[in-house]
Amino acid sequence: MPDLSQTAGEVDATLLDQTVGDNLAETASRFPERPALSDLTAGVRLSYAAFDAEVTRIARALVARGLAVGDRVGVWSPNCAEWTLVQYATARAGIILVTINPAYRSHELVYALNQSGCRWVFAPEQYRTSAYREMLEESQSELPTVEQVVYFGTDDWSALIADGDRADDDALEVRMVGLSPDDPINIQYTSGTTGFPKGATLTHRNILNNGYFVGELCGYTEHDVVCIPVPLYHCFGMVMGNLGSTTHGSAMVIPAPTFDAEATLRAVESERCTSLYGVPTMFIAELSHADFDSYDLSTLRTGIMAGAPCPVEVMKQVVARMNMREVTICYGMTETSPVSTQTRADDSLERRVSTVGRVHPHVEVRVITPGTDTVVERGEPGELCTRGYSVMQGYWAQEERTREVIDAEGWMHTGDLAVMDADGYLNIVGRIKDLVIRGGENIYPREIEEFLLTHPDVLDAHVVGVPDERYGEELCAWVRRQPGSTLSEDEVRSFCRERLARFKVPRYVHFTDEFPMTVTGKVQKYLMREQSIAELGLQVAASIENA
Ligand code: AMP
Repeated sequence: MPDLSQTAGEVDATLLDQTVGDNLAETASRFPERPALSDLTAGVRLSYAAFDAEVTRIARALVARGLAVGDRVGVWSPNCAEWTLVQYATARAGIILVTINPAYRSHELVYALNQSGCRWVFAPEQYRTSAYREMLEESQSELPTVEQVVYFGTDDWSALIADGDRADDDALEVRMVGLSPDDPINIQYTSGTTGFPKGATLTHRNILNNGYFVGELCGYTEHDVVCIPVPLYHCFGMVMGNLGSTTHGSAMVIPAPTFDAEATLRAVESERCTSLYGVPTMFIAELSHADFDSYDLSTLRTGIMAGAPCPVEVMKQVVARMNMREVTICYGMTETSPVSTQTRADDSLERRVSTVGRVHPHVEVRVITPGTDTVVERGEPGELCTRGYSVMQGYWAQEERTREVIDAEGWMHTGDLAVMDADGYLNIVGRIKDLVIRGGENIYPREIEEFLLTHPDVLDAHVVGVPDERYGEELCAWVRRQPGSTLSEDEVRSFCRERLARFKVPRYVHFTDEFPMTVTGKVQKYLMREQSIAELGLQVAASIENA
């Protein structure tokens, strides 16, 4: 009988049975003098002893100010040292951190804070054009559960730290003893495989172990320095970056608040980073930077590309031109903490640049015929499913939605199409969920479609992703106007720009009077995509080979 597409990861190393707070304390006691965190923009540098002490101070303040185990606290901010401190302080105090995309605008923010019932929010007052304070103050009446906003770098923040100094030492200790690794500790909003945003709820066990094994497969020790230009609000930053480092005593480097190719290259050189993370778009921007050759990247050894289809050619350049000879590709999703498969340092170069690797330790993966329980044969495409410690607890307060994606046997149905080869290596070959990934940011066409329909001149709208060499995909909106309307492409885009995060504004707008339909009246998005590729001349981008 031919082999079926199902594999289980190694179980030689045991799972960590700890909370995030306890694990950090252990690392700090092993490597007190080693660097823990550098925020290069703010000029903050903390050793593990100092980082751990700061985390404890903030955790004490949170307890003293009345936040209970399981309360929700949001963080809506670009990357900064405070973000990471809040991540560990909330975990240490048993408070659930709700991570919110800093590109979100008011209505997206209000949804996340209300659905999770946040009592507090951490945010900067302003970053570039994002007026966080203004948006929060304007939305105040729509946020009934929010009691307090702590703005980074203001008196709010210093007062919190000062409270931590005054607080009762024992209250936090007592609190920590009562926490369990199976408590939820993090909610991340994702539209999952379909529809409206849902809060993937992750426990200490989920994210601590995923970070730990990612770090193991990258061979991290206390001598590694990890450059984290990927967003902290996503698992790529807070789990693979932060927890991957703190479980190994490695240093976390924040090169800039949001992605900046030059700041990233500079950080690798100045901090002597050994590992660099990025979605494919970030590596493409670094490799094509005008001053690329002037940076010394010789300290790099490894790193991770993930989050979107990884072009084989870009991987080859990362190995050859960035000295990342042990670079790995990870595949995963928020609902699985996130990583399910990863390439190994000792895999052949060919496999390391052209596959998403093999199943992670203590995780199982299989490929099924979508909509059935039938596991396909090796080499056949099907839906990738993941099972194990890494699968989320569920979507916050949405049991039915959870049951739609995690089946009775515990398999998370990813909505991604994959092929498993004879040795268990996987390729991601497509998606059955309606999702576009632009520069690593997920966009749900339905959200944009519903938004476009709120325009008085729009009769109907359907949105697809089209290939793009730099961003992987770009949004293309097909719009049917009301009869007699003179709505222009620019007007459609500026309408979106007012209310939506920038990355959700369609690059291409195409006016049409009809959409390709099936006999049952369903829009055929693959035909829209094919036609758009031909009309926009995107054949070269469409032919890029991915891992
Ligand atoms: P998120 O929940 O934001 O992490 O997005 C998860 C989705 O990103 C997955 O379901 C995939 O569609 C996509 N993805 C993540 N990593 C990869 C990868 N290495 N190759 C292809 N797609 C990926």
